[in-house]
Amino acid sequence: MSDDFTRIIVLGIDGLEYSLVEEWKLEYILQRAHCRTDLSDYDVVVTPPLWGSMITGKIDREVMRRWKLHTLLAGMDSMRVKLAEKLGRYLPHRPTIWVWNHLVLPVTGGNPFESTADYVKKKNLHTIFHEFEKSWTNGLPGYGRVVSNSTARELLLEAFRGNRKPYIRYAIQLYKEDRERLLSALDRDYDLIFWYTCFLDKIGHVCAGNKLEMLKYYLEINQLAKRVKKKCPDAIIYIISDHGMKPAEGAGKWGVHSDYGFFSSSTGELISKPYHLYELLLRHAPGIRTRKRVYLDSSGPTNIRKINK
Ligand SMILES: [Zn+2]
Repeated sequence: MSDDFTRIIVLGIDGLEYSLVEEWKLEYILQRAHCRTDLSDYDVVVTPPLWGSMITGKIDREVMRRWKLHTLLAGMDSMRVKLAEKLGRYLPHRPTIWVWNHLVLPVTGGNPFESTADYVKKKNLHTIFHEFEKSWTNGLPGYGRVVSNSTARELLLEAFRGNRKPYIRYAIQLYKEDRERLLSALDRDYDLIFWYTCFLDKIGHVCAGNKLEMLKYYLEINQLAKRVKKKCPDAIIYIISDHGMKPAEGAGKWGVHSDYGFFSSSTGELISKPYHLYELLLRHAPGIRTRKRVYLDSSGPTNIRKINK
């Protein structure tokens, strides 16, 4: 490892809502500079292709097509979701689940959460992890992590029938396990740590309309970001979400994805699209650092802005 080694830590927080972080002024999440990210290049705002794009630098159009077809057939395209919201009957209601399980899954190659959970590795795509000497991740959607398995789906259904507690307990348990993994990774000498949690996404889907409860969980994430900062004061820290979460219109406390994401950095650097994260990380990769020293090339990638506060 080179002597100018700077550790990079990415905290990937699925479903982290930009407007709530700003409203509650969560300083360890906001960091030195922060912004919304623009998701207009993604055909559907769904989790696996978003995280996959962050580590590969591009949107996989074939995976996108699979998701688009799936959401259309399952009646989850944005027009129908909006209609269901207006009726105060946020998806998935029972007929949709039945259609999904019995008619859609068999013809579209299985649940896309599962069939695309590892698409980056299955397709052997080049990732940012190849650019570092010793990188670590606890698994990202699209890269070895299933965010919606059968347990999660059953508990979510139970939540939609009125009993949210088991689902929330499940989300908290998963979060605690992931938090432990992060804390022990920080004790090792990894040069890139890309940590992921689906905590706020899961909680948000069933609690977005209950702000007081959401605050509790956002404070926890802010505390975790503070712990990471205190433990690794010299590290470059990026915090990123794939999309945010807004309360669904109509009755209930359900949440639906908002059509923008969140990004913040400890350095003042900013990106406007999730897949620009790849380029940003590449800029700090060991090989690039060495090359920069030799050629004294100070011109940075075009997609990265820098704000000095
Ligand atoms: Zn997500």
